[in-house]
Amino acid sequence: MPDLSGKHGLIVGVANKRSISWAIAEAAAAAGARLAVTYQGERLEENVRALSATLEAALVLPLDVTNDQQIADVAAAIDREFGGLDFVLHGAAFAPKPELDNPFVETSREGFRVALEVSAYSLIALTRAVAPLMERRGGGSVVTLTYLGSQRVITNYNVMGVAKAALEATVRYLAGGLGASNIRVNAVSAGPVKTLAAMGIKDFSSVRQVYGERTPLRRNVELAEIADAALFLLGPQSRAITGEILFVDAGFHIVAF
Ligand code: NAP
Repeated sequence: MPDLSGKHGLIVGVANKRSISWAIAEAAAAAGARLAVTYQGERLEENVRALSATLEAALVLPLDVTNDQQIADVAAAIDREFGGLDFVLHGAAFAPKPELDNPFVETSREGFRVALEVSAYSLIALTRAVAPLMERRGGGSVVTLTYLGSQRVITNYNVMGVAKAALEATVRYLAGGLGASNIRVNAVSAGPVKTLAAMGIKDFSSVRQVYGERTPLRRNVELAEIADAALFLLGPQSRAITGEILFVDAGFHIVAF
């Protein structure tokens, strides 16, 4: 496990204890980092506060990634409390339900806009807001979460696949632009895990069943395995890696049939 003691991190995208972002928060805290954890709206506040109470002196802040004022407020609160920032885990994604239920060709203009704004543009807005805090630390690491549906057609993933393609391109452009400040930007492409967001995708359990049968490792991945890979990218052991999409999917992406 990397040593993150003395480091400060921002974790976005915790809905509950099954969230991938929460698994990464727990792993980062266990490695010694002090964290700011955000929640999206009052509905999730109680959950996120209760989970964060199990961490050492975590800062808990509201953040809807479509709200520029809240993004600025999060950066300001981190500046006040931590005086800088070493890493960000971006795990926010959303597509309106009809876009995941209807045939892809029915994707609405508004559904497309919302999915891409929340799931891809937010990485740009968030990174821009915290980049000065990272520069003050001599650099930093930004990690987001993506899925193979960016490259391949996964039934019912629909506009989320388009959003993930935009997110992965965003990772590369941010990495290209911020490398001179020693800010690295990478993504973990995770195999399917049962989370709130995943349960919104029709027939999601059959996707997991296919993975269990067809991955080279003949199994699905666990939250802790995704968290370990994310920690590698967030910490100093990956200091020469940027613009990378790291698959943590038991090898599913290499298999044709
Ligand atoms: P999750 O627990 O439901 O987390 C998704 C989070 O995004 C939730 O906390 C959600 O809040 C938040 N979010 C949505 N809209 C937001 C907004 N406007 N502002 C701030 N936060 C917002 O599901 P998860 O599976 O762990 O998802 C985390 C990331 O992993 C996502 O990017 C997802 O696409 C990616 N991923 C998941 C899988 C999988 O199989 N689960 C595989 C590969 C990649 P609400 O609950 O309020 O919407």
